[in-house]
Amino acid sequence: MMHAQLTPLIEPSTPLLLPSPKRLPATKDLNDIIQAFLEAEEASGLGHRDIAACVRCMASSARDLLTHPMLGLEDPEGRALPSDLPPVIDAHVHLFPDRIFEALWRWFGRHGWPIRYPLHSPQVIEFLLSRGVHHLVALHYAHKPGLAAWMNQYMASLCQQEPRLTCVATVLPGEPNASLILEEAFALGLRGVKLHCHVQCFSPDAPEMHVIYETCVKHNQPLIMHAGREPKSPAYPCDPHLLCHVSRIERVLLDYPTLQLCVPHLGVDEFDGYADLLERFDHLWLDTTMVLADYFPVAPPISMLNRRPDRLLYGTDFPNIPYAWDREIRHLLAMNLPAETLHALFFQNAARFYQIPHA
Ligand SMILES: [Zn+2]
Repeated sequence: MMHAQLTPLIEPSTPLLLPSPKRLPATKDLNDIIQAFLEAEEASGLGHRDIAACVRCMASSARDLLTHPMLGLEDPEGRALPSDLPPVIDAHVHLFPDRIFEALWRWFGRHGWPIRYPLHSPQVIEFLLSRGVHHLVALHYAHKPGLAAWMNQYMASLCQQEPRLTCVATVLPGEPNASLILEEAFALGLRGVKLHCHVQCFSPDAPEMHVIYETCVKHNQPLIMHAGREPKSPAYPCDPHLLCHVSRIERVLLDYPTLQLCVPHLGVDEFDGYADLLERFDHLWLDTTMVLADYFPVAPPISMLNRRPDRLLYGTDFPNIPYAWDREIRHLLAMNLPAETLHALFFQNAARFYQIPHA
């Protein structure tokens, strides 16, 4: 079933800036607000500092976790997923409007790592689907008030063109009309909410979060929230170690027993604390993104894969990665996990969390 959808493969030697099959019909309003946003930052003298903060959480680092600059890896990439895999949902893909993506890549080039796949949104989608990934979950986040609604519209325009794409909404905690912004996004077809404590400078148990949790619960929408305290950087506008702690997530789980909550990157770096929460709360989920790719100098908590295989989602952070697109999945396959675990990790759990049709 999965392979019937394969399109001709792009040879590994093909330059990575692939031709876009079609331009997205972005609205003039959306382009205007992004342009204004970028120009305002330039004029302020801050340059792309705030955009840098958006990605800093992934690219930079804790002194003990990462070193600067991180190197790109020239590891070989596969032409497609192995033919004997169950269907694969990549539950952690990033899509942004072109100019924001480009600003992120400029920052990565200076401070993070070489972006191996500098692809715009339509090319990201084409790249992964053409290599046999069954379905993508697309994430983004807004770091300024007034930006989320437009970015959600952009995501909705992508999803309307590709049924194998689940697009997740965002909002800035504390911004006016946060509930309305999310409800409008859900009405556009977006599924779930993505938040990022580091980029958006909030604590999971902050007062402004209640309206977001309540809106998710009311509309039966899941929430994915980067609430792990790493990677942190001294250049970061907020200190993630002050904002984030596993005990704050425990409080949220206790307060909202019907909220389906996913913490990405296996909760790095409080692995033991998140493993404990995973045992105790059936509405907590974690994703594997980048942590199991053998790139960062961390000891991956492999035992989680055996203890709660029903609560872990496979994800990649594509396209903002410094290594081969299939590196993480190859490492997971090398672990010789049971077939049921692979099916849950690669497909079933994400399908349940985001209510993705199995067809
Ligand atoms: Zn990410």
